[in-house]
Amino acid sequence: MMRIGHGFDVHAFGPGDHVILGGEKIAHSSGLIAHSDGDVVLHALCDALLGAAGLGDIGAHFPDTDATYADVDSRVLLRRVVALLDAHQWQVVNADITIIAQRPKIAPHTDAMRGHIASDIGVTHLAVNVKATTTESLGYIGREEGIACHAVALLIARAGTEV
Ligand SMILES: [Zn+2]
Repeated sequence: MMRIGHGFDVHAFGPGDHVILGGEKIAHSSGLIAHSDGDVVLHALCDALLGAAGLGDIGAHFPDTDATYADVDSRVLLRRVVALLDAHQWQVVNADITIIAQRPKIAPHTDAMRGHIASDIGVTHLAVNVKATTTESLGYIGREEGIACHAVALLIARAGTEV
């Protein structure tokens, strides 16, 4: 038994000198506004994983009204999501991620992101793909108002999974 999930997230730019994407700190002329560290990549991935398992979304598990999650490292949230999947007898097969950003340049950082994510979700480097595109200067991404991310993930059931 396999299940697929999709996640999407957006964060707006605000004051700051770096963004954190896929667990990687990237110097930039703005930061991303968020209750947590604003890691739009890991938030989209968490939602894809939770979606595949039928376990709701990141907002339900880690509400932004809860002070516990103020400025939280999103890798901690990702590892908690994977632990939750594990408790439900789900194993991650792979994840494919598309970051949509006009700036900063993402390509030099995708390999590092893959490493962080592969280690957090318990798969090989090749089972995590991270790619990026711009919107050719169109729309809110093109106007550099923020960064968006899509993620899809596949899970496989271990014996005893409630499906
Ligand atoms: Zn988010």
